[in-house]
Amino acid sequence: AYVILSPCETEKAGECATVCPVDCIQEGQDQFYIDPDVCIDCGACVNVCPVDAIVEEYDLTEEQEPYLEKAEKFFGHI
Ligand code: SF4
Repeated sequence: AYVILSPCETEKAGECATVCPVDCIQEGQDQFYIDPDVCIDCGACVNVCPVDAIVEEYDLTEEQEPYLEKAEKFFGHI
């Protein structure tokens, strides 16, 4: 699954939510979130993000990993 990172917190552009073919990106209070259980790894959101905030979960650094957990919590998976 793809994960939205900190650059979204100041930008919140939202283009990702518009292009996602499975409609799994939702706006939260501080940033947009991708539902990792629904994301089909198409990568469409990555290219439209103006601040390059979206990465594949396997490419997350240790400092970025909490953003996957934040998304899991946002969608009530954990
Ligand atoms: Fe949606 Fe594709 Fe981005 Fe996953 S990778 S959040 S399915 S646009």
